[in-house]
Amino acid sequence: MARTAVLGLPRVGPDRELKFALESHWAGESSQEELLEVAARLRAEAWQRARAAGIDVIPSGDFSLYDHVLDTAFGLGVIPERFGPAQDADLGTYFAMARGGDGVRPLEMTKWLDTNYHYLVPELSPGQAFHLRADHWVDQLLEARRLGIATRPVVLGPLSFLLLSKGLDRPLDLLDELCSVYVQLLHRLAHAGATAVQIDEPVLVQDRTPEELEHFARTWRGLARATSLELTLSTYFGAVDLEPLADLPFAELHLDLVRAPEQLEPALAALRGTGRRLSLGIVDGRNVWVTDHDRALDLVDRAIAALGTEHVTIAPSCSLLHLPYEAARETGIDPEVRSWLAFTAERLTELRTLADAADATPERRDELLARPREAVQSRRASARTNDRRVRDRVAALTPSDYDRASPAPERRRLQHERTPLPELPTTTIGSFPQTPEIRRARRDRRAGVLSEEEYEAFIERQIADVIAFQERIGLDVLVHGEPERSDMVEYFGQQLEGFAFSEHGWVQSYGSRCVKPPILYGDVSRPGPMTVRWWRYAQSLTSKPVKGMLTGPVTILQWSFVRDDQPRSETCTQLALAIQDEVRDLEAAGCFAIQVDEAALREGLPLRRADQAAYHRWAVDCFRLTTAPVRDDTQVHTHMCYSEFNEMMDDIIRLDADVLSIEASRSDMEVLDAFAERGGYPNDIGPGVYDIHSPRVPDADEIERLLELAEARIGRERLWVNPDCGLKTRRWEEVEPALRAMVEAAQRRRARTAAPA
Ligand code: GLN
Ligand code: ZN
Repeated sequence: MARTAVLGLPRVGPDRELKFALESHWAGESSQEELLEVAARLRAEAWQRARAAGIDVIPSGDFSLYDHVLDTAFGLGVIPERFGPAQDADLGTYFAMARGGDGVRPLEMTKWLDTNYHYLVPELSPGQAFHLRADHWVDQLLEARRLGIATRPVVLGPLSFLLLSKGLDRPLDLLDELCSVYVQLLHRLAHAGATAVQIDEPVLVQDRTPEELEHFARTWRGLARATSLELTLSTYFGAVDLEPLADLPFAELHLDLVRAPEQLEPALAALRGTGRRLSLGIVDGRNVWVTDHDRALDLVDRAIAALGTEHVTIAPSCSLLHLPYEAARETGIDPEVRSWLAFTAERLTELRTLADAADATPERRDELLARPREAVQSRRASARTNDRRVRDRVAALTPSDYDRASPAPERRRLQHERTPLPELPTTTIGSFPQTPEIRRARRDRRAGVLSEEEYEAFIERQIADVIAFQERIGLDVLVHGEPERSDMVEYFGQQLEGFAFSEHGWVQSYGSRCVKPPILYGDVSRPGPMTVRWWRYAQSLTSKPVKGMLTGPVTILQWSFVRDDQPRSETCTQLALAIQDEVRDLEAAGCFAIQVDEAALREGLPLRRADQAAYHRWAVDCFRLTTAPVRDDTQVHTHMCYSEFNEMMDDIIRLDADVLSIEASRSDMEVLDAFAERGGYPNDIGPGVYDIHSPRVPDADEIERLLELAEARIGRERLWVNPDCGLKTRRWEEVEPALRAMVEAAQRRRARTAAPA
């Protein structure tokens, strides 16, 4: 009988118990013992649930108090000097690496491959030494055993560890030495009673050079020779280059067949008759839709026919870390839509069903598959996933729908005529502090404590305050402050057709931080204006222009669970048209400047270079489609929260936004070099002049210096003055002096002759 396996489980707890335990511990309100007790309970419950669901191979060591890459760095002794001597490192050190403390900078954080999960980037230094601390893996293994559950420890592999680290130009020079530490770890695990270990090497699905693969293969052989444990080489999020991996000594190879089903046949050919197992990643660990069991079983049948049932494992495509706990709990979601959803609990059931169906008689198979077939069928046929009007509108698009009427210089002249702005116009990115008062009002409205009228009056007062504040300090282009938005994606999703929202669907983003992604299940359209009312009110209070503020289609797509029954580009086009409707309505209401935020444009980039060109094309097209219909004298702004533009420069240019604001203060304006090169970026640009991620308040001198640097790079004429990002996470005590300093710096620069560009 084919076995079932899970590569990793969610760890925050069905009600985010880990988050609350961590935060209370960090606040000094609970002891380390209390925190560790909660963690142990969450692990025990997760293992027990997996066993109850009939999962054969249950993971351990995947649970983390903060992040599994940090666990690995900590366990290998990769602890930068600023955190104190490695041999003294304790839980306090671990959290200091994650969050900083006492003036010590934490490790950097970045996205885990192409997911929305963030890991802490290990820092390697020249002459890096490794020291094993195996407790993390050994303790969890023993803990599960005490509950009577045999587990398979999960370890992030040495290749991925090194390539996901920073600090060395040639990190793989350390691979051989690092592998000897992994050998010790395997010994410790074998000694503690493990029989198998899962070694994750997700970097194998990225472009790797033949030398890297060759080096990896050599060290893997060494690893396998040194241990008696069964090794599972596990890869996910895409296709691997099978050829150099296929004859490595592993007991099992795990492939992501959701993202890359084409890997199956070559893998079967390579493993046939070798006595090694293939682990089929056939239920989606990254998305929430009920598995098409027939399609999945087709892969299983082929694998069993080629390898024999004892050599086939049925598994999710990747760790279930990226899914919420249980769809059945979401009683607030329409039952039809809910029947299409599968979170972790449902995925475990699916694995069992698939394994049972794999060697059932045809009649029994029909019985087992009746329910999931119904769900898949209902989703396919539902009117919610097929809205004629939306489909017709997309089908009728022509190339000119993606272009503004005139080229940028002409538009800029007309915009200047319509609304003259001073040199170095000052503005902000959109949000102002989300105070406890604002959050309370939202809560009270949900609870029915505030009536709709009371709530709206409250929001209007917030807007009025923010407008008055901006006038007082002398900003040129104002914003309404976004007090009505809890989140820049959720706010729009809630007003669009085609979205559902879960109540408990939390997914870990990093550490104690969780997100609850909207679920985009159907054809998307906009029943009515979403922001015009607030914009109109804000504009009625001032003679200065107030920017309209929208979230772009790529960012909405990127931060939601989206349908998998059509290409992402198609869903994104529907989103673009829905946001375009809002753009048109804002313009018709008299809005001069409309900002469409695309914070996640770069995140959506596929892992393999070969797939990137197509993404660049459709993602930028969707932005253009969103903004194209506005008149020449309407000013389109966009904002992006990062500063690495080198590989994105062509996209940025092609967005053709009249004004682009970006993160720049932490790089000392160096990012502008990318904009100055190659004949220069033609449109206006607002490099962030101070870092809003820090509570530190900048003074006018330092902002003036940054502006001077910016002028030297791109000239004054197209330069705007704004912070790095929205101000929602800051407090008023920080925002007021910082923005005053910003305005003063701009005024001082205006009084001086421009630095020569
Ligand atoms: N307009 C949004 C804000 O100011 C943009 C946020 C973002 O870029 N992440 O909060
Ligand atoms: Zn931003």
